[in-house]
Amino acid sequence: MGLEYRNLMEEVVLQNVDTVMAAEGGCTCDACKSDVIAYTLNHLPAHYVATRQGGLMVKLESYALQARADVVAALSEAVVLVAKSPRHGR
Ligand SMILES: [Zn+2]
Repeated sequence: MGLEYRNLMEEVVLQNVDTVMAAEGGCTCDACKSDVIAYTLNHLPAHYVATRQGGLMVKLESYALQARADVVAALSEAVVLVAKSPRHGR
């Protein structure tokens, strides 16, 4: 069966990254998006759960509700920083 664990924080970040990037109006290419996700995850506590696929969505839904505000705040900060100095220049 193998080991089953996921970082719910990462899932919530992935759920919200497109919306926040679109709202901030910065570059949304994959390089910038990757930078935004990495920066955001480095500034948020990880939230790992050990679960198989069936239980994951239930845990994720309830965790997403409580974490969303923090995630959106961290994403907004990351988007502004990455937009200021994109790795590929302007
Ligand atoms: Zn870019």
